[in-house]
Amino acid sequence: MKISFSIVVPMYNESSGIEAFFSRTLKVMDELGEPFEIICINDGSRDDTLERLRQIHGRDPRIKVIDLSRNFGKEIALTAGIDFASGEAVIPIDADLQDPPELIPRLVEKWREGYDVVYATRIERDGESFFKRWTARMFYRLIRRLTRIGIPGDTGDFRLMSRPVVEALKSLREQHRFMKGLFSWVGFRQVSVPYRREPRFAGKSNWNYWKLWNFALEGITSFSYVPLQIATYFGLLIAFFSFCYGLYLLVRTLLYGNPVPGYPSLMVVILFLGGVQLFTLGVVGEYIGRIYNESKRRPLYFVRQTMGNFLGHNT
Ligand code: UDP
Ligand code: MG
Repeated sequence: MKISFSIVVPMYNESSGIEAFFSRTLKVMDELGEPFEIICINDGSRDDTLERLRQIHGRDPRIKVIDLSRNFGKEIALTAGIDFASGEAVIPIDADLQDPPELIPRLVEKWREGYDVVYATRIERDGESFFKRWTARMFYRLIRRLTRIGIPGDTGDFRLMSRPVVEALKSLREQHRFMKGLFSWVGFRQVSVPYRREPRFAGKSNWNYWKLWNFALEGITSFSYVPLQIATYFGLLIAFFSFCYGLYLLVRTLLYGNPVPGYPSLMVVILFLGGVQLFTLGVVGEYIGRIYNESKRRPLYFVRQTMGNFLGHNT
């Protein structure tokens, strides 16, 4: 039997909310009345998420489990799930019910109209601090400016993707996986559906600002060379002003002689250029690090065990 929908759920310490997630999601999916699978990726949870998934899989074989060998992070967990999905449409969703499963029928509806990617855009973010909302908004604005791909703001990973998009996505095997960027980068016909984002149902968010900051860096450096260019322009600008200053000193010395040994100007120039060089080196190093990482071509994850019959996985 052909599977219409693959729901892909990365799970990291989601034990407390798991029953609620499945009861709501199964209800929605049953109402759709088409064959589906729910692929849960246990991303190295430290609680009993895996045990619970094992039980749930026993009750309902449509719920399938991929147990990663350790915590790889959400982006990789999601990638694993998408690799194993066999549905005509693949729908990544968070386990914490912040992405309401009740929205899925509306995503499906748009897909039936012929769109390849139907992403859910939140119109409100309940239960999140003003500062988190603000940082998120600034981040999307920045990334839209810096990169040519239009990553929609206020959009998580909750979306529906058609088979061709999934295949395109599967061919991207880079190590630095900024999924939101990759989703947009593959292109295809995309459309958004608005919804209200709810506060986390149970458990706690794995986010903190340090992670968010790194996430932003990841997004920008994965898709943009602008930081590298900033360093170049900055360097050029400094060099230009140094040249002018040097010229001024030269002319002044020729006309009036040198009253004081040029200690201050020397120091200023040396320090400034040293700073610029370090800064530039830092940026270059960032990219070299990336080249290094990509060139290693490591597998993205190791699956320890799987439960269920993954039709979509061709090894
Ligand atoms: N998640 C994961 N691996 C991680 C961190 C999170 O698979 O290392 C999953 C988590 O279980 C949830 C989803 O990713 O299903 C979103 O996580 P979270 O709610 O912590 O992020 P937020 O909603 O704050 O963006
Ligand atoms: Mg969440």
